[in-house]
Amino acid sequence: MFFTLALIGRPNVGKSTLFNRLTATRRAIVNHTPGVTRDRHEGWGKLFDLEFKIYDTGGLEKLDKSDLNSSIQEQTLLALKEADIGLFLIDGRKGLTSTDSHFSNWARATDRPIILIVNKCEGKAGQLGLLESYSLGFNQSIAISAEHGEGLRDLYEALKIKFTELGETRSEQQNFISSQQSILKTSRKVAIIGRPNVGKSTILNKLIGENRMIAGSESGITRDSIPIIWEYRGQKIQLVDTAGLRKKARIKEQLESLSVGSTLNTIRFAEIAVLVLDATSILEKQDLSIARYIIEEGRALIIVINKWDLVKSRKKTLQNLTDRLETSLPQIRGVEYLTCSAIKNQGLRKIMPKLLQAYETWNSRITTSSLNRWLTQVTEIHPPPLINGRRLRLRYITQANSRPPTFIVYTSQLNRLPDSYSKYLINRLRIDFKLPGTPIRIITRKSDNPFTHR
Ligand code: GDP
Repeated sequence: MFFTLALIGRPNVGKSTLFNRLTATRRAIVNHTPGVTRDRHEGWGKLFDLEFKIYDTGGLEKLDKSDLNSSIQEQTLLALKEADIGLFLIDGRKGLTSTDSHFSNWARATDRPIILIVNKCEGKAGQLGLLESYSLGFNQSIAISAEHGEGLRDLYEALKIKFTELGETRSEQQNFISSQQSILKTSRKVAIIGRPNVGKSTILNKLIGENRMIAGSESGITRDSIPIIWEYRGQKIQLVDTAGLRKKARIKEQLESLSVGSTLNTIRFAEIAVLVLDATSILEKQDLSIARYIIEEGRALIIVINKWDLVKSRKKTLQNLTDRLETSLPQIRGVEYLTCSAIKNQGLRKIMPKLLQAYETWNSRITTSSLNRWLTQVTEIHPPPLINGRRLRLRYITQANSRPPTFIVYTSQLNRLPDSYSKYLINRLRIDFKLPGTPIRIITRKSDNPFTHR
């Protein structure tokens, strides 16, 4: 861990002299930073056992009077931005000038710690400046003579204290960052998806209200950059793409149209998608296209039917839903769905268990031996079709991947199974290995000898 110091102060207070003294044994580099009016010197400095990087906002001395102030300010702020500590120099012999006072105000407006140094204090000559320096309101003034190498012990003590403080803050920050990273890594990534106005924001806020928040703002709808993470029964859950939800909640944009690009992105980042439907208009065209995105991306999925309080004929609505699921989304047969009223706080408790259950299913792994026993049975019950007069043979099956469950079937003739047979296999896999609601993929490969592919 090393720290960077920036020497700041008006021209002629002795910044370069101090820079040279602190970097004496090391070579200084002149840094041509683009966009900076004058070159800046940087080097590796050493003071007793402290080592540091140091910048000198050098070159200012050569500027015209007219552009002095703005350039000093520009360079100073830039140097301070890149440094951990500012060493602010004044000239003890000259005493305090108005430029010094301006400087100290700029410097303190940044959030960097500043050490006030009164230079040219050899002999008695610097006493005036030293006394005056107290009026700047720093809690310490360090009298040195950069040219004669006096007062460096005091500077060392002051730096040592700051280095220790900064070191503690920095390791706290690093610990915080790594703990955040590990939380993100171990959390389930969930996206709440659906048409505008189906109640996504309302559901989210209720979910957060019921569970322990780990990160994110209290209300859940204020700051965009913080991920929302909560804990449910020891499992951390991270909400993917809260920005869209939050922005909407804030602007109360009622006419928002579904943006395909951002919905797709959200789905891609998520592991589990919670598709929210409005009970008064279930599985409309737009709902179906969102559902198909989720399935195509192979995400785990549950369906939440919100605004259940507004439904008069509940039985009919459910029947309608199951019919439509069956006809329009057979790829996720058996998908978990639940009804709720976010506004009345009803039914929301069922969301988390179902969501985690869908995640488990999505992660399922089935052994090759049980898959092949199963393959023998299902092909006996319902043999594959004839292709060009020859019976298609399925020789071997193995699970290539989970999330979603993906299987490779090796066949005698084809690189692709006929659709209807592939649907039959997926359906049987779903029932026999208990994979309800998750997308399932089958890839076919032609193979004479199954064992060459193992
Ligand atoms: P989003 O666009 O999907 O985030 O939807 P919002 O959460 O902003 O909700 C849209 C509107 O539906 C708001 O006026 C909510 O108060 C209302 N709303 C949300 N959930 C329910 C519910 O369960 N029942 C009823 N009747 N209204 C709801």
